[in-house]
Amino acid sequence: MSELTPLREAVIDLDAIRGNVETLRRTIGTEHLIAVVKANGYGHGAVPVARAALTGGADRLGVADLAEALELRDAGITAPVLAWLHDSDPDFDAALAADVEVGVSTLAQVDALAAAAERVGRIAVAHLKLDTGLSRNGVAPDDWPQAVRAARAAEEAGLLQVTGIFSHLSGTDAESDVGQADAFDRGLAEAARAGLDPELVHLAASGAALTLPRARYNMVRIGIAMYGVSPFPERDPSEFGLSPAMTLRSRVVAVRRIPQGQGVSYGHTYRAPRDTTLALVPVGYADGVPRQASGRAEVSIGGKRHPIAGRVAMDQIVSAVGDEPVQVGDDVVLFGDPATGAPSAEDWARAADTIGYEIVTRLGRRVTRRYVGA
Ligand SMILES: *Cc1c(COP(=O)(O)O)cnc(C)c1O
Repeated sequence: MSELTPLREAVIDLDAIRGNVETLRRTIGTEHLIAVVKANGYGHGAVPVARAALTGGADRLGVADLAEALELRDAGITAPVLAWLHDSDPDFDAALAADVEVGVSTLAQVDALAAAAERVGRIAVAHLKLDTGLSRNGVAPDDWPQAVRAARAAEEAGLLQVTGIFSHLSGTDAESDVGQADAFDRGLAEAARAGLDPELVHLAASGAALTLPRARYNMVRIGIAMYGVSPFPERDPSEFGLSPAMTLRSRVVAVRRIPQGQGVSYGHTYRAPRDTTLALVPVGYADGVPRQASGRAEVSIGGKRHPIAGRVAMDQIVSAVGDEPVQVGDDVVLFGDPATGAPSAEDWARAADTIGYEIVTRLGRRVTRRYVGA
């Protein structure tokens, strides 16, 4: 089989991931840090990212669901892994067999985890999650006293070990985050009254870890910041000493010259304001390029930024490069490290009315990942 040069690739700089974790370790200063590698490591590849994050000083890993946790175990990763999102009939036996720690969000899950521990013959490691106001998962505040007592009873029965208590912030504004931290403190006090003494207490994800010291407790759960993407739409990752790990690249596959007034791409939403060269780039919304960014985002070709002309199609975008001597085969960077002059994931997010998280996570299946560093 011949090796084709990929038409589009995401280059993942594992040194950037490792360096970002080192930086976050230093600046946040908590005793523990969970590197969150759910959703295939925010599109970067869960297993290589997990390894780089552990090398950078993360001591634990976090994922949403059990399948993601098992993927890490299947790859031979032995660090503690926490999974916190389950359906109504989760396979806690498999979690225990794979030594996966379980985030617990309901009283029923306390019971199910204890029952699995009894069947498998292993003590289950649980992190109890309190809903402090996000209103997604987490034990409802009214159920919390009962949940902590049930968890304590399961500890005494030798079935469960409550290693962590946690919650998640809505990030609405500073005031509401502080209100959630207050509710969390009340929940911790209730847990202590029930006799629980968790080793790990964690509330903050990237945003609060970087900006709300009160929310750090002794562990933070770091996702987006580790990838060098900002948790805040209006602030760049460089403000926090973070470098983007992902560069989305392609190359020019055709060029043509069009006269002033010629329409470009579906619906002719762009008409050339003057004679211009067009560069055809084989990436589209199937690859995760947001159609919403049509006519708004820029790409970097040969180190210079050029606008996208007209609509993003399924497989292609067209860039209007004016009189620049752009040629077939030239490198195109859709987003990467702005320190190199490329647009950032944040630039794309602004152009598409979304957040950097979505830009890196949504890459399609045709985008090959290539790893450099670490
Ligand atoms: C995704 C997630 C995180 C990580 O959030 P970032 O903002 O990417 O750091 C942390 N905790 C929970 C519960 C999550 O679902």
